[in-house]
Amino acid sequence: MKMTKANIRDMIIETADHSNLNNFKAIDLPEEAMWNPPIVGFAAGDDDYFKFFKHDIGAFYWLPSEAFHLKYKDKSVKDKDLTVISFGFSQTKETKKAQNRAKEIPSLRWFASRGEWEAFIYDMCEKVISEFEKKGIPAVAIDLLPEWSRMTSTKHGIASKWSHRHTAFVAGLGTFGLSDGLITKQGKAMRFCTIIIEGNLPADIRPYKKYNEWCKFYADGTCGACMYRCPVHAITKEGHDKNTCSEYLQLLKNEKGPDLVTKSHYVSGCGLCQSKIPCQDGIPMTIDFTNKRD
Ligand code: SF4
Ligand code: SF4
Repeated sequence: MKMTKANIRDMIIETADHSNLNNFKAIDLPEEAMWNPPIVGFAAGDDDYFKFFKHDIGAFYWLPSEAFHLKYKDKSVKDKDLTVISFGFSQTKETKKAQNRAKEIPSLRWFASRGEWEAFIYDMCEKVISEFEKKGIPAVAIDLLPEWSRMTSTKHGIASKWSHRHTAFVAGLGTFGLSDGLITKQGKAMRFCTIIIEGNLPADIRPYKKYNEWCKFYADGTCGACMYRCPVHAITKEGHDKNTCSEYLQLLKNEKGPDLVTKSHYVSGCGLCQSKIPCQDGIPMTIDFTNKRD
């Protein structure tokens, strides 16, 4: 492998830093970054979790090698020959502040960062892939695969062929919360991306044992703050109702949202359950990281 994990981390962070799409020009705040510098994690292509997701979510869910072969059709590689890189961007302090004041309708900043996400992340992916290719490393960005689509899982309902959040979990970046969002060391107000490269780099050690360990509700039965933030009661003690949530996102897009969303190509976001909560900026309790090994 011609790049180390440190080289790759630096390259991804630098690419984000140089992006002219990481800004709030859509709402006339061009000098302000939309997203904080990314956190980056690494997973082995043959990590058992990827097989488990396919088994649990549905046969349509991709293994890393299946996604890789959509671009490199003639390459004979297996999951064990691949490294999966996950990176995630957290919302800025200013966006979180604005979102904390929102009750039923998310803040303009939140709508703008969600609405501009595709343009930003496609550009990021193209640049990161090009850096890998310059070094002779075959690389695939899930976001740039035209075959990616939403699907319906018999067991889990709304799903897709690849989940960036599940991948971030495998790569050691965080665990799921009651609202289905991923809680990381930078909190839950985040969006993620995945790149798969050929070659073996050591996987990051997951500093947790359970998929929901960093959520206070699952850890000690308290909290539940995200339940009270949701304007349509899509989060209960039983978890996140994806259909109710999705219907509210459609309502924001078609009727209730600001012109910025209803009169544009923007995908609507909500994220009220990701702000004004104990896990907004980090893990909501003190965790002893010693002896937390897979
Ligand atoms: S707000 Fe509380 S219950 Fe909800 S995900 Fe965060 S820690 Fe868990
Ligand atoms: S995104 Fe909005 S509608 Fe969906 S669960 Fe969170 S607060 Fe509720």
